[in-house]
Amino acid sequence: MNQIQFLGTGWSHGVPMIGCDCRVCRERKPENVRRRSSLRLTDTDSNTIVIDVGPDFRDQAITFGIEKLDAVMITHQHADHVMGLDDIRRFTWQQPGPLTIWVEPGSLDRMNTLYPYVAQERSPAKAVPLVEFRAWQGPVRVGAWELIPHPVPHGDLPCVGVEIRCRAFRAGYVPDASGLPNDLIAHLQGVDVMILNALRHDPHPSHLSLEQSIELLKQIGATRSFVTHMGCPLDYHTLKTELPDRIEPAKDGLVIEVEEATVSPQSV
Ligand SMILES: [Zn+2]
Ligand SMILES: [Zn+2]
Ligand SMILES: [Zn+2]
Repeated sequence: MNQIQFLGTGWSHGVPMIGCDCRVCRERKPENVRRRSSLRLTDTDSNTIVIDVGPDFRDQAITFGIEKLDAVMITHQHADHVMGLDDIRRFTWQQPGPLTIWVEPGSLDRMNTLYPYVAQERSPAKAVPLVEFRAWQGPVRVGAWELIPHPVPHGDLPCVGVEIRCRAFRAGYVPDASGLPNDLIAHLQGVDVMILNALRHDPHPSHLSLEQSIELLKQIGATRSFVTHMGCPLDYHTLKTELPDRIEPAKDGLVIEVEEATVSPQSV
């Protein structure tokens, strides 16, 4: 079965947040424990793609049982989306050649600055990731999946949202954005699944608030919609009862089964 899985659904701090004594952080209910935002795609041939590798990647790989990687996609250069890259060496050294890291083009220089030591040729020590950074400028196919980047506004930095296709199935994944361009809203209209950033209730200059996210999700009108990249001001259980029909809070580990154009979420 082809699957989409949330490896992380938190804002850049993760939840609970260091030093925060709010109710969500204090109670640590499992549904409110949010690793840094990341998505895993797998197909029936075990091809595995991960979108973003934040500081929680090691925990995510162990907790959710990632066994191999066929591609990694980077939506933008913020630390909560790239600072776990060193840990992918455990995967790259089991594979014959460098792993391709598809990077939003405006973030390539930053990746090379952050990770100047990544090797593109084997060395005996196996101490560094064996990867090749490539500009993600158009559709990338890996197994049953096709991943198409679409620029979205996110503060001063270039950033992309991802259109995910798997045969007739279509989804949108935008973990970080302060809005969506009108042509992208039109393009995504009626997708099977739409996953969108919702940081908190209060407005933020480079992220969507929950209320802004709900409005955009209504415009897109996906069969199923999820909010992600959430901070501790948002409680899973409150969202679960208060969000409009067909809009749900994501949670770490949640799996969406993808079979042709039909989808049925199930929890793990
Ligand atoms: Zn982020
Ligand atoms: Zn908190
Ligand atoms: Zn960001």
